[in-house]
Amino acid sequence: MSDFAPSSPHRSRCPQCGSRVKRVLRTENDKRRWDADDFRRYRCRSDHCNWQGLLMVDPERRAPAGGGRGGSVIARAGRFALGLLLAAGLAWAGMVALQAMLDP
Ligand SMILES: [Zn+2]
Repeated sequence: MSDFAPSSPHRSRCPQCGSRVKRVLRTENDKRRWDADDFRRYRCRSDHCNWQGLLMVDPERRAPAGGGRGGSVIARAGRFALGLLLAAGLAWAGMVALQAMLDP
């Protein structure tokens, strides 16, 4: 059986013992990271090791030629900053409205 593709060189391995790892669901905390798309949570398959943590996703797998999803880190950082700004603006507008209501 030689038609079985050899495992990709990028295949994720446990950083502690080098065993194979399996994908596990990310925690809410993991998803809240602004760069969460770059990481997947894995757990080591070895019973002796029990390592679990975030591993960087291979950028080649994440962004196929042509992209299209706007997955650049800078673009996402920009959106993140924009979100913060928007939130700050809303909070500020709320304060102003509240003050306008309280002022006679
Ligand atoms: Zn391990």
